[in-house]
Amino acid sequence: MAVDFSNTEVAFKSKSDRELNKAYWLFKMVGSPTLVNVGKSMTSFALAIRFPIKWAVKPTIFAQFCGGETINECTSTIEVLNKHGVGTILDYSLEGKESEADLDATRDEIIRTIERAKSDDAIPFAVFKPTGISKFSILEKANNSLEGLSQLDRKGYDSFYERMDAICSQAHRLNVPLFVDAEDSWIQDTIDRACEEMMIKYNKENAIIYTTVQMYRWDRLDYLKKLQRLAEEHSIKIGVKLVRGAYMEKERERAKEKGYKDPIQPNKKATDDDYNAALAFCLEHISNFAICAGSHNEDSANVLVDLINKNNLSLNDSRVYFAQLLGMSDHISFNLSSLGYNVAKYVPYGPVREVMPYLIRRAQENTSVAGQTSRELNLLKKERLRRKGK
Ligand SMILES: Cc1cc2nc3c(=O)[nH]c(=O)nc-3n(C[C@H](O)[C@H](O)[C@H](O)COP(=O)(O)OP(=O)(O)OC[C@H]3O[C@@H](n4cnc5c(N)ncnc54)[C@H](O)[C@@H]3O)c2cc1C
Repeated sequence: MAVDFSNTEVAFKSKSDRELNKAYWLFKMVGSPTLVNVGKSMTSFALAIRFPIKWAVKPTIFAQFCGGETINECTSTIEVLNKHGVGTILDYSLEGKESEADLDATRDEIIRTIERAKSDDAIPFAVFKPTGISKFSILEKANNSLEGLSQLDRKGYDSFYERMDAICSQAHRLNVPLFVDAEDSWIQDTIDRACEEMMIKYNKENAIIYTTVQMYRWDRLDYLKKLQRLAEEHSIKIGVKLVRGAYMEKERERAKEKGYKDPIQPNKKATDDDYNAALAFCLEHISNFAICAGSHNEDSANVLVDLINKNNLSLNDSRVYFAQLLGMSDHISFNLSSLGYNVAKYVPYGPVREVMPYLIRRAQENTSVAGQTSRELNLLKKERLRRKGK
C-alpha cells in the first residue's frame, strides 16, 4: 500500500513550535526569486570583502540546512534525528579547494566523519565529494584515460587516488559504509573508474563503498547493468546511491556550447522512468546490490516501498535505504521512518563562510520558480494550522 506522505504531524514531530515557525518564514522568504537573487548578490559581495555575515546566516538558513560548523556542533541534530528513527550522514561541505594542503585537510576531516560514524549507531553512512579531495582540472584531464597525462598531472591524479584510497580503506577497516557523490559528467568517468576499483578492493563481504548513479543521464541504466556484471565477475557487492542528478542546466549548456550530444534525458518523464527502472533493477538483483535512494520524490519513494514488498524484503533490510537532505522533505523522511523503513539524512556541516555555496544552491532550488518551495511551504502551513487546532 502506498505511503501517505501528507501526515504533517509525523513529518514535523522533531520540530518545536518555534522551529516550525522559523522554517515557515524561511521557506516563505526563499520562495521569492527576487529576494533570493538579491540575497545571493549581497552575500557574494559580503564574502568578497570579508564582511561578517555569520550573525545573519547561522541562526537562519544555516540552521535550517546544516548541522553545525564542526562534527561536535552537529551532535544535537544527530540526536534529534536519531530519536525519530532517522540516521545522519555527516557531509563535510567544503567546495573549490585547490592546494595540496587543503585537499589533505579535507581528506583528514572526512576520515574523522568515518571515525565518528564508527562510534555512533545514529550515523549509518559517511560521504564525500571527489572534488573535495582533488583539483577539478585533474579529474577532468583524467576523464578519458590516464594515458597522455603530463608528469605533473599524473602526480596530481595519483594524489587524488591515494586520498580516495586512504578514505575508503578506513571505511573498510571500521566497517562504515561510504557514499562517493557523483558530479559533472566530464569528470564522472574518472570517479566511476576509481569507485569500481575501490569496490573490487573493499566490497568483498559487504557493500562498503557506494558509488552514485545519476539517472538524469540516458546512459546510466546500461551503466548499472555493467556494475551488476562487475559484481558477478569479481564476487563483490555493488553499493549504489541512486539519484536523479543535480547539475542538469550546467550539463545541457556545456553540451550545447561544445557541440556534443546532451548527456541528459530529453525530459523529466524520461528521468523519472529511468530512476524507477533503476530501483527495480537493483531490487531484482539485490544479491548483487545494496542501494540508497537519494531522492525527495514521493512517487519514487512509493515505487521503492512497493518493490521492497514485491521482492519479499523486510522493511528494514540493511541493503535498502532512503535518504533526503537536512531541512528538506521531512514529510518523506519521518513518515517512512515511522513505518520502520531505513532512512537517513545528509547533514552538511562546515564553517559558515565555506558552506555558503551549498546554502545558496539550496535557496535557489527552493525558489517558487524551481518549484520545491510550494510543497515545503504548504506542508509547514498545514502543520501550523493543525497545531493551532484549526
Ligand atoms: C541524499 C541525497 C544525495 C544526493 N547526492 C547527489 C549526488 O551525489 N550527485 C548529484 O548529482 N545529485 C545528488 N543529489 C541531488 C539529486 O540528484 C536531485 O537533484 C534532487 O534530489 C532532486 O531530485 P529528486 O529525486 O528529489 O526528484 P524531483 O524533484 O522529482 O526531480 C528533480 C530532478 O529531475 C531531473 N529533471 C528535472 N527536469 C528535467 C528535465 N526537463 N529533463 C530531464 N531531467 C529533469 C533533474 O535531475 C532534477 O534535479 C542527492 C540528493 C539527495 C536527497
